[in-house]
Amino acid sequence: MKKIILTGDRPTGRLHVGHYVGSLRRRVELQNSGEYDEIHIMIADAQALTDNADNPEKVKMNISEVALDYLSCGIDPEKSNILVQSYISELTELTFYYSNLVTVSRLQRNPTVKAEIQMRGFNTSIPVGFFTYPISQAADITAFKATTVPVGEDQLPMIEQAREIVRSFNSTYDEVLVEPKALLPENEVCSRLPGVDGKAKMSKSLGNAIYLADEPEEIRKKVMSMFTDPNHIRVEDPGSLEGNTVFTYLDAFCKDDMFAEHLPEYQNLQEMKDHYTRGGLGDVKVKKFLYEVLMEELSPIQARRKELEKDVPAVMEILRDGSVKAREIAAQTLDEVKSAMKINYWSA
Ligand code: ATP
Ligand code: MG
Repeated sequence: MKKIILTGDRPTGRLHVGHYVGSLRRRVELQNSGEYDEIHIMIADAQALTDNADNPEKVKMNISEVALDYLSCGIDPEKSNILVQSYISELTELTFYYSNLVTVSRLQRNPTVKAEIQMRGFNTSIPVGFFTYPISQAADITAFKATTVPVGEDQLPMIEQAREIVRSFNSTYDEVLVEPKALLPENEVCSRLPGVDGKAKMSKSLGNAIYLADEPEEIRKKVMSMFTDPNHIRVEDPGSLEGNTVFTYLDAFCKDDMFAEHLPEYQNLQEMKDHYTRGGLGDVKVKKFLYEVLMEELSPIQARRKELEKDVPAVMEILRDGSVKAREIAAQTLDEVKSAMKINYWSA
């Protein structure tokens, strides 16, 4: 069986370091591993509209922003097909047919959607499109017969929903669809990077993100204001690592060899953590090191982005080509789906 990846992001803002460690960095590795027959990366504009219906400008503007983030991180359009969801109208047709296989109570049980509804203050006025977006996500995944979906932890309920739809479709009609598997980051802290406020998942919608394209000065300010251990008041106090966002970020970004250049008094992160918990290591010093660590990873990405930003129309062309290719694949799957459902009256 072919090995196929489908993954993507909502164009609700530029991408942040949570996306980077949760998904983007891995995608580039998978792309360059040569192990996959097809890789599709979707900019999910239709899904973004389910909770931004009154703000189409925001969604439109962020299509090229997200694409610029992809390309600057090393997504190569020769190896990975980048597509824009709304161009592929077959996806909405698939969603319509799949919605017959999912109950309202099943959708209500989805913990991520529940949390997102609360976060957005929808309460009793949930848009139907938003409530049902896990079905549309199943359409996105299955249209490409994806076997592997690299995601952060918040997406696990969506993948489970997609797997259920596949099983239900295949047993009700015919073996057409492929059950996908989620691929989480190897490092656990990366599958749900907290925001700089330390409270929730870093998210474009919560204003607690460090964006890949933030100016270095902005990144420095965000790092210096980050949540640490509130009881670690004087340098000599013993500090706690539990829920200490600065150390969480170091877990996600720091490599041993970065100490030699930026903080040679330690050989590795464990030594630094031990010093912090013993007492005698101040937050400011840890934050300054984190800033250096982040910039080491982000500087080359930012330099590539500055180059790519000079020709945004060329980036939009890449998206158009990718969307055209993607549409052919989705149309083929839709044909098979309709024929399994016996609604292909006029095809041969
Ligand atoms: P929104 O607030 O609009 O939903 P978002 O920041 O949650 O935006 P998405 O586009 O919904 O971003 O998510 C894209 C991908 O990035 C998903 O695979 C998701 O699991 C992953 N991801 C998002 N936020 C994080 C995070 N803080 N840590 C790790 N992975 C994340
Ligand atoms: Mg999200």
